[in-house]
Amino acid sequence: MPRIYLSPPDISPRDHASVDAVLTSNWVAPVGPALDAFEAAVAERAQRSHAVALSSGTAALHLALQILGVGPGDAVLCPSLTFAASANPICYQGAEPIFIDSEPRTWNMDPDLLQQALRTHPNIKAVIVVHLYGQCAEMDRILEICEAHKLPLIEDAAEALGASYHGRAAGSMGAFSFFSFNGNKIITTSGGGMLLADDAKLIERARYLATQAREPVAHYEHQAIGYNYRMSNVLAGLGNSQLADLDRRIQTRRAHFDAYHAALAHLPGIEFMPIAEPDAANYWLTCLTIDPAVSGSSRDQALAALAAADIEARPLWKPLHLQPVFKNSAYLGGTFAAQLFERGLCLPSGSNMTIAERQQVIDTLLAALTGAPANS
Ligand SMILES: *Cc1c(COP(=O)(O)O)cnc(C)c1O
Repeated sequence: MPRIYLSPPDISPRDHASVDAVLTSNWVAPVGPALDAFEAAVAERAQRSHAVALSSGTAALHLALQILGVGPGDAVLCPSLTFAASANPICYQGAEPIFIDSEPRTWNMDPDLLQQALRTHPNIKAVIVVHLYGQCAEMDRILEICEAHKLPLIEDAAEALGASYHGRAAGSMGAFSFFSFNGNKIITTSGGGMLLADDAKLIERARYLATQAREPVAHYEHQAIGYNYRMSNVLAGLGNSQLADLDRRIQTRRAHFDAYHAALAHLPGIEFMPIAEPDAANYWLTCLTIDPAVSGSSRDQALAALAAADIEARPLWKPLHLQPVFKNSAYLGGTFAAQLFERGLCLPSGSNMTIAERQQVIDTLLAALTGAPANS
């Protein structure tokens, strides 16, 4: 049996044809028609007016913070339970992250703690909200709080392409939003990202900074420090065919979630990530927690059993306030995110995982959690 991965790239003959068409057209150098088409298609999907395709989601967040004028002496609020790339660009800009605990309804940034942070911390310049594992945060309250304080909100929708919140697309709600097309995300361009906004001037500025801040003259004139952050037209060719397959991918990942839930949710001590709006999440990864005091087993025992069966599973993101590199950063909250990290498990959820492979994951977990022998 081949190894079962957590969320591997899902590449079809249509992707080969799409990339091949770009190469045949010879639009290989940075920009080109595939890139324009990819920007327009993602913007439409995310209900946005403007978008710029970039080398990564991290680059997109970096440009957003730069354009918002975040710099030394500023603080930026960010959830603690997320990947380090949600916070690293705050530090690129010489600003300070302040981390916020999660709430139990969606595992995303707790709006009450956000409000508390805004009351108690001066110098806050922006807020980053993350839609973790493909489920949107409590956006009504978070948007209301940010508007009341006149603070720009950046949506880290890296994991949430195709998700929505009460009918609004993930990535359509903040002043800026971004997606990632890294190899493990729901669609991939191998590496890549996109920054979106409704204000054309903001995206024009991002495009300029991402293209080495070149003035529109022939002799390479520069009035600002720029970056080499653009996505290539070849990779956008891959993005176009991947995006055309997004709905099937969401359906497949949701079917994985449903099958895992049906097989495991009744076990004592097992709790799945709550899904506040079942038709709105993109089900990027199926996540659950194992309470060792109630279950006969622990998260680490489950991980070990899966590893022994050549199945890749992972703990949830390690909260950033517990990361050595952020040990001096401020944190607001209790132990909710920390407890999720101790007990949480992400299960293989790829859109190319077969039903037989999924059953193997289920059998291995059932054996680990109940002490029954695995079927294989
Ligand atoms: C993947 C990811 C990023 C970073 O995206 P890259 O394209 O890998 O730079 C940022 N935030 C979250 C929540 C992610 O999962």
